Amino acid sequence: MRHSHLGKLMLILVGLVGALQLASHLTSRHAIHDSLVEDAARELRIGADIFSELLGHHATQLSTPSRMLAMDESFRQAVIADDVTTINNALTGLASLLKADLVLLSNNQGRLISPQRAAAPRNLPQDRASRVDYLILAGQAYEIVMIPVPDTGQNDWLVVGYLLDEALVWNLSQLTNLDVSLLSTTGRDLIASTLLPEQAKTAASWLANTNHSSEPGQAVAEGANFLFLTLPLSDEVSAVLQLPMERVLAPSHALDRQLIWLTIAGLLLAVLAAVLLARGISRPVTALANAAQRITSGHYNTVMAVRGDDQFSALAKAFNAMQGAIAEREQRLVHQAEHDSLTGLPNRRVALLLLEEAIKDGKPFAVMALDLNRFKEINDALGHGVGDQVLGVVARRLATNTKERDLSARLGADEFLLLLSDVDTAQAIHVAHRIRDRVVQTVELDDLHLNVEASIGIALFPEHGTDGETLMRRADIAMYDAKQAGHQVAVYQPGWDERHLRRLSLARDLKEALINEDLHLLYQPKAALRDRERIGAEALIRWHHPTLGPLRPDEFIVIAEDAGHINRLTRWVLKAAVQQLQQWHREHLMVQLSVNISASDLQDEDLPGFIATLLTNAEVEPQALCLEITESSVMKDEYQGHAMLARLKGIGLRLAVDDFGTGYSSLSQLKRMPVDELKIDKSFVLNLDHSDDDAVIVHSTIELGHNMGLEVVAEGVENRETVMLLESFGCDMIQGFLLGKPMSATELAVWARAWLEQPRIGEQSLSA
Ligand code: C2E
Ligand code: MG
Ligand code: MG
Repeated sequence: MRHSHLGKLMLILVGLVGALQLASHLTSRHAIHDSLVEDAARELRIGADIFSELLGHHATQLSTPSRMLAMDESFRQAVIADDVTTINNALTGLASLLKADLVLLSNNQGRLISPQRAAAPRNLPQDRASRVDYLILAGQAYEIVMIPVPDTGQNDWLVVGYLLDEALVWNLSQLTNLDVSLLSTTGRDLIASTLLPEQAKTAASWLANTNHSSEPGQAVAEGANFLFLTLPLSDEVSAVLQLPMERVLAPSHALDRQLIWLTIAGLLLAVLAAVLLARGISRPVTALANAAQRITSGHYNTVMAVRGDDQFSALAKAFNAMQGAIAEREQRLVHQAEHDSLTGLPNRRVALLLLEEAIKDGKPFAVMALDLNRFKEINDALGHGVGDQVLGVVARRLATNTKERDLSARLGADEFLLLLSDVDTAQAIHVAHRIRDRVVQTVELDDLHLNVEASIGIALFPEHGTDGETLMRRADIAMYDAKQAGHQVAVYQPGWDERHLRRLSLARDLKEALINEDLHLLYQPKAALRDRERIGAEALIRWHHPTLGPLRPDEFIVIAEDAGHINRLTRWVLKAAVQQLQQWHREHLMVQLSVNISASDLQDEDLPGFIATLLTNAEVEPQALCLEITESSVMKDEYQGHAMLARLKGIGLRLAVDDFGTGYSSLSQLKRMPVDELKIDKSFVLNLDHSDDDAVIVHSTIELGHNMGLEVVAEGVENRETVMLLESFGCDMIQGFLLGKPMSATELAVWARAWLEQPRIGEQSLSA
């Protein structure tokens, strides 16, 4: 591009100069040519004058002696007397005197006397004045002088002449330096010529096409160009003077050569000037183009030198400014592309790149996925502004607690990634706990004091993966596990990938199951130890998966909670349970039914209203329905949990703390919970008959519950020994395989009637 522009510029310059040179060359050539031709024409005219003079001289030479002879009396008498001998003698004398080629005496009556065998002119003049003429006689051209011989009575004329021949034309040619040709005007025949014979022949034909004019003309003869001037001597004879153009123009050839050399020199100078000019322009343009190229390939550091204050230096200045601006903007863009705008931490893309780099290094390292627990709730309850501020605080805490060589990044939402170089599993777990402790400190925003919880999952290179994506995913899976299990930190274990996939597909299928009613309830009997009239049941959900078969709630409840389906699921269970209660009550089977609810159900503000409507519509007493909430569910958000429990209690429902003993609730917390029932977790009951430790725990829990005014239920009762121990501890109700495994509603009714109809036997059979 650049080159072609400079090339064009050079071409235009050289072309211009060349055209000018050519024009001046042609003009001067033309002028020279014209002046040379003019000179030649003058030469021709001079030649013509000389020729005329020469012929005039010949005429004079012939006239004088001839006139004397004509006037001579004796000669006249001889003519009158027709004395041929005397006449011939006189004529011979005259001829030799004049060296004339023609001498004769003639008249119009046919007399012809001549010592030579000559022919006489056909028409002699009628008057008696002597004259000069040019004639063709017997095929030869002559210049003749005719002189009347006076008073002979027969109009006799003395005629003398010179031949117009080769000798004459050569003589004239020498005098004038011209070519000379003589032609018969009538016959166009060549009489004599200094030209080459062929040229001379062609020259003869000129006359055929040439108007006689006093101006020279040009014609070509046998390839040679001639300038010629025709000189008509008489009606019969013409002379043509010629000058070969080659000779005319010969002086111009040298001039031509000089002009050509001058033109070439001019052109070379033009090229030189163009090159210098082009370089003068091209150097700064090339420098600018190179700078642009550098900018294109992302190098912004070379500053262009600014010299002088012409347009180029202004352009260079502008270029430097532009380069700076681009560099700054690119830096900003790169930073934006690589960093999270909210926290300023590197983003997922950069994290992945650094991870891949660390993998290339080959040294062991740990990837940690850190996720805030229940961050959605902060967002929902306090708004995204607060959520963003919390994320900012967490990000700062992470950044300040990460070593220089390590990385903290934000992957999205409330998920962060840490990369710890050069650590083994134990060290990674230790660091994870330390970081978690730093992150979970209370976040104070204006008047708000928020407890932030976090779970961390760890994946190690190279044990758990050799590419960035896999390591990230596995750290994520481990984090997910930590969150589920209520642990703070979890290290990825082989097989968790498959489990994670299964969870993902179950989460997807559960939505369908809720629509297609692939779910159903089983009922596990529950009975009071002392008051045999009091019986109950716990509704336990079952899912018959179309391809995986029956699934345990332990697996899919957690998934439902995570996938956000739990509120719908709980409502489905509650609806089915209340319908069942209605039916049993209609059948006069006064069973109390327990339903499990999850932690996030406590966030469902509309739940109390929903249950109240269900009960009213089914005309079921609220006291017949008991809601079981695990200890840890309430503990997740103590404040909101308690408020919701109070509302549920407010509509008259019975409340139970499920799986008691597995959580970390303090006695004071338990005291504040508006519950009616404590369900001791089955893990303490299953081995009660063998384990003294469990016995101590269960016994003191029963006492504790009673002291708080709560009814105590033991679940997981599988044998009579356990029943006897529980009875001795004062336990109020039992639930377990001994009474019955979870069963259908019909089976439960059958079991209940049997239990109620044989109280005594039943009691004995339980404790015996
Ligand atoms: P849970 O509420 O503690 O329910 C008692 C679990 O212990 C039931 O398991 C039951 O089959 C089992 N079990 C009862 N007696 C014995 C015994 O003598 N020996 C042994 N080994 N096990 C016994 P299941 O049905 O698999 O339910 C597991 C958990 O799933 C429940 O624990 C409950 O937390 C949850 N769950 C069940 N249904 C629902 C539901 O509808 N909604 C919610 N949110 N959770 C539910
Ligand atoms: Mg339960
Ligand atoms: Mg339980």
